[in-house]
Amino acid sequence: MNDFFQQTAQAEFQKASQQLPGAKQFQTALTQSFKRYDNLIAKTIAESPTKPACQAGCAFCCYYKVEVRAHEMLNIKDYLHKQLSAENIQQIIQEAEQNAVVIRSITPEQHLTTNLKCPLLHNNQCSVYPVRPYRCRNFHATDAKACEQSFADPANMDIATGMIETVALAADAHSQGFEAAIEQKGLDARIYDFNTALLEVLADESCLKRYLRGKKTFQTALEVS
Ligand code: SF4
Repeated sequence: MNDFFQQTAQAEFQKASQQLPGAKQFQTALTQSFKRYDNLIAKTIAESPTKPACQAGCAFCCYYKVEVRAHEMLNIKDYLHKQLSAENIQQIIQEAEQNAVVIRSITPEQHLTTNLKCPLLHNNQCSVYPVRPYRCRNFHATDAKACEQSFADPANMDIATGMIETVALAADAHSQGFEAAIEQKGLDARIYDFNTALLEVLADESCLKRYLRGKKTFQTALEVS
């Protein structure tokens, strides 16, 4: 592990730990962590001679397999209830249910090579963009044509969409620093499948109680090992 990675992860771990005196502060701590992340990534991109090709309206990566942490999904639930109508949330649930049927019928490896539209993608825009999880934030590409090719041929794992090494390192280090703080506080740091966790958080009020008590948040969602 290089020095930059270690320093970035450690700095985020310390800041996040200070902002997490107890489980109830997890959403405030996550919001502050997202702000620090956005500043860090903007600075790292500005310093890089290579720039990401990502633009609003390009959403091929939103058909990839997505994973999420419990604190991120609980945050997304609150955002959905504040920002979207009951009708829109019902449409999201229907789409997530269709995805979940497919996801439960294939292996995790097959999921990696299967296009499934994220139920939160609407008109090629993320419905929860300000609170999208770290897994989505961390993804970027330098070759938009390769993203399109990968979308057209999802089983072809040889297509390289290109990443900027410094940006990828900063992104991974920061998100891992935050996740380490969550774990150190005794909170659920498991990784869950996005679609099945979304269905459970929208159906079961007890998810938040379990999270705040340091228990396993999701009981029916698929856990990613
Ligand atoms: S949460 Fe948003 S950014 Fe992530 S896959 Fe879904 S639509 Fe795309």
